[in-house]
Amino acid sequence: MGSSLGLYNYLILRGHSVNVITPNTYPQFLHWIPGNETVTVFNRQTDKAKMLIAEADIIFSLDYNNLSRIEDAGKEVEKTKAIKIIIDHHIEPIAFADYTFSDVQKSSTSEMVYDFIVLLGDKSLINKTIGECLYCGIVTDTGSFRFPSTQPSTHKIVAELIELGVNHAEVYNRIFNTYTEDRLRLLGYCLFEKLKLIKEYKAGYVALSKEDLKRFNFQAGDTEGFVNYALSVSGIRLAALFTEQEGIIRISLRSEGDIDVNKMARAHFNGGGHANAAGGRSDDSLEITTKRFEEILPLYKDILTKN
Ligand code: 5GP
Repeated sequence: MGSSLGLYNYLILRGHSVNVITPNTYPQFLHWIPGNETVTVFNRQTDKAKMLIAEADIIFSLDYNNLSRIEDAGKEVEKTKAIKIIIDHHIEPIAFADYTFSDVQKSSTSEMVYDFIVLLGDKSLINKTIGECLYCGIVTDTGSFRFPSTQPSTHKIVAELIELGVNHAEVYNRIFNTYTEDRLRLLGYCLFEKLKLIKEYKAGYVALSKEDLKRFNFQAGDTEGFVNYALSVSGIRLAALFTEQEGIIRISLRSEGDIDVNKMARAHFNGGGHANAAGGRSDDSLEITTKRFEEILPLYKDILTKN
């Protein structure tokens, strides 16, 4: 949402007619981003979204590199004759676009949108509004500047955004200090009752059934960041979160160092992402899916237990 609305606000300044479409609903803690009120949600406003896609001259694909990532919206994008431009930082892009701006070293697509605007010679147009959007994308995707993907360029861009008037403390509060009580209690429940550590393989995971989520009035985004907690235990290098949502199991994987969870997600969970942060899905039950996770650990024993 940060990269899309950052680009949206820039293109509006350039006088274009722009629509942001997202495949499904996104967390409430992102609804403050400038331009949010104009976003069309594909699985809620399907007819409108289909029409906007069909009528577009140019479609930017931001923060994904494979049309399957945007679910049913992907079929519509595939059909159109619009010029397609990918701006993305995920591994192994699929060549579905006319132009692909891919850089897997970049912390975030928001950082790339910043570069994109600068490369177009429009650095002077980047203002506080665009800056807030891009700062949001960067601070979330870098885990507040903690993940290894954070580069000197990330800090340089952020310094410039702050100089433009972005209030980083305020943006941080809007994202990270506006959770519901239910979300905080769900986190407590996960850590106290649901965290399973498999120390032999330096791995840990949390599995949440739909009943668990219902008990805490789950809303989109509530489990964002939960997967990282297992990694905070000394010696744990691989973490997973399984959540049962809308009839499938969504999987988040995180790792340290040279444990490549993108490969793991591709090989076993129909997914992908980055080397240290990936995701996937399973059509099996929660029980079967977590069992599969436990069963694949021995395959990665050498890399997981390497010192
Ligand atoms: P998260 O665990 O936060 O949902 O996702 C971590 C990273 O993996 C993100 O960069 C996200 O785009 C990517 N990712 C999550 N789920 C999938 C998936 O099903 N397929 C692919 N290719 N990437 C995914």
